[in-house]
Amino acid sequence: MTIGIMAAMHDEIAGLVRHISEQGDSTVRRVGTRDFYVGQLEGQACVIVLSGIGKVAAASTAVSLIHQFGVTEIVFSGLAGGLAKQVQVGDVVIADRLIQHDMDARPLFPRYEIPLSGITEFAVSPALRTALHKAATHFFENALPACVSAATMTQFGLHAPKIHIGMIASGDQFIGSEQQVLRLRAELPEALAVEMEGAAVAQICHEYAIPCTIIRTISDRADSSAHVDFLQFLSEVASKYSSGILRGYIAARGNSSIDLSI
Ligand code: SAH
Repeated sequence: MTIGIMAAMHDEIAGLVRHISEQGDSTVRRVGTRDFYVGQLEGQACVIVLSGIGKVAAASTAVSLIHQFGVTEIVFSGLAGGLAKQVQVGDVVIADRLIQHDMDARPLFPRYEIPLSGITEFAVSPALRTALHKAATHFFENALPACVSAATMTQFGLHAPKIHIGMIASGDQFIGSEQQVLRLRAELPEALAVEMEGAAVAQICHEYAIPCTIIRTISDRADSSAHVDFLQFLSEVASKYSSGILRGYIAARGNSSIDLSI
């Protein structure tokens, strides 16, 4: 088993990259413009890579992970805008399915359907999703106060972060206006969060029959204040969530022999 770990931006998994780089037997291999960190985390074989932002970047990176590094499963951790009313900044969303909200090949194919695949929503591995949910619950219940100070929690208005499970919508757009939010909510009422990579990774994993799971920390409400403090939130809150949750997840994956049938 080799776990591929992906994120779009450096700070999203900076802690894990530092950690794997410190291990004596880790290596870095460059493919195209990406650096793949190959080594062990929590005693488990892993490959960590920054995909860059957007569906093309994410999909091509997922293909490299599968083809050139032989990963047997993929976890993607990153940020997202909260779309559903109950999904607030500082919460976490774990996908049970993903849709490409900007895919529209009408009238040849129904809206959102990936042309010639017959698929509109990509499901993720229920077993991996459950493992990720357990790791996130454990992190919030036990490790959060040690990782994010009370002052930082107050600064960002975070109280009791929640974990949501449901649909994530991906597209090659940063959603940052009330108008876009209202449109997406009306068109995809079940979508909890919006981001720019997840559904592309899920599509590649579906095509190669590699189980995947996607977790997103809500950095903004996808409205006109979405860009405010984005980078500070990333370095002071989301990167801490991500390191803590992924380390717990990887340790648990290494110790289990769960059924990964999709
Ligand atoms: N404003 C940021 C832009 C980063 S792009 C900056 O100045 O650096 C946003 C990244 O976070 C993408 O990887 C995307 O997946 C995720 N994301 C967070 N909030 C988002 C939103 N409101 N709409 C789309 N993607 C979002």
